[in-house]
Amino acid sequence: MLEINDLHVQYPKAKEHALSNLNLSFQKGEFVCILGKSGAGKSTFIRCINGLQRPTSGAVIWKEKNIFHLKEEQLRKVRVEMGMIFQHFNLIPRLSVYQNVLTGMFGKRPPWKNLFGIFSKEEKNLAVKMIENVDLTGHKDKRVEALSGGQKQRVAIARALLQNPKVFLGDEPVASLDPGTANRIFSLLQSIHNEYDLLTIINVHDVILAKQFATRIIALRDGVVVFDDIPDNFTDEV
Ligand code: ADP
Ligand code: ADP
Repeated sequence: MLEINDLHVQYPKAKEHALSNLNLSFQKGEFVCILGKSGAGKSTFIRCINGLQRPTSGAVIWKEKNIFHLKEEQLRKVRVEMGMIFQHFNLIPRLSVYQNVLTGMFGKRPPWKNLFGIFSKEEKNLAVKMIENVDLTGHKDKRVEALSGGQKQRVAIARALLQNPKVFLGDEPVASLDPGTANRIFSLLQSIHNEYDLLTIINVHDVILAKQFATRIIALRDGVVVFDDIPDNFTDEV
C-alpha cells in the first residue's frame, strides 16, 4: 500500500544524516508504532510520508507513484488521504471545537474556495458525527483553548477524520499528555483504526504504549532501522 525506497535525509548544514537509506513497506490494517530516542529520525520519517519533508534522495511510493514527483495539486490530494495529528495539536485556539473540525475540509478544496468558508449541510453533519466519534459532543461549541490536552487531541483526531483518510499519521501525539490520557488517546486511535480500516503510523517514545497497541514496531536509531517486527519480539535493549 505504501512503500519507502532508499529514503535518505540530510538537513542542510547537518554533519550526520537524519535518515539513512530506509526501505520499508506498509499494508492497510497495520497499526505501526515508531520508537526511538529523541533525534533518532522519527519525526523526519513521518513528515516524509506525506511530503511535508523532502528527502535528499529516495522515494515514497503511494498508489504506484513517487509522491516527490507529483505536482503541488496532486501532492495536496495525497495529503488529504493522509490524516495527521501532532504533539502540539495545531488547532486554532480561539475557534470552537466544531469550527476547528470543519477546517479538516480545507485540504479538500482549492484555496480560493476556502475564503468563502461555506460548508454544505452534508459537511456540517459529518463534522458533528466526527465530534461524536471522539466523544466531544457536549463540548462542540466551546473554544478549544478552554479544553484539556486530551480533549484538544481528540479535536485534532476528528479534524483529521473529516478528510476521510486512508492513512493516519501521528507525530508524538501523546508526548505532552499524562499517562492515563495518553492511553485513552491510543484506545481511541485503535478503535478509529479498526472502524475505518486504516494504515496507522505513529511516533511514540513510550515503549509500553507501543507494545500495548501496535501490530508492528519499528525502532530507529541514528536514522537507521534497528528493529522491525511484532511487539512480542521487542525488548528494550534494541
Ligand atoms: P526524532 O523525531 O526521533 O526526535 P528528528 O527526525 O526530529 O528525530 O531528528 C533527526 C535528526 O535530524 C536529529 O539529529 C535532529 O537534530 C536533526 N534535525 C531535525 N530537524 C532538523 C532541521 N530542521 N534542521 C537540521 N537538523 C534537523
Ligand atoms: P484530560 O485527561 O486531559 O483531562 P481527556 O480527553 O482524557 O482529557 O478526558 C476528558 C474527559 O473525557 C474525562 O472526564 C475522561 O474521563 C473522559 N474520557 C476520555 N476518553 C474517554 C473515552 N474513551 N470514553 C469515555 N470517556 C472518556
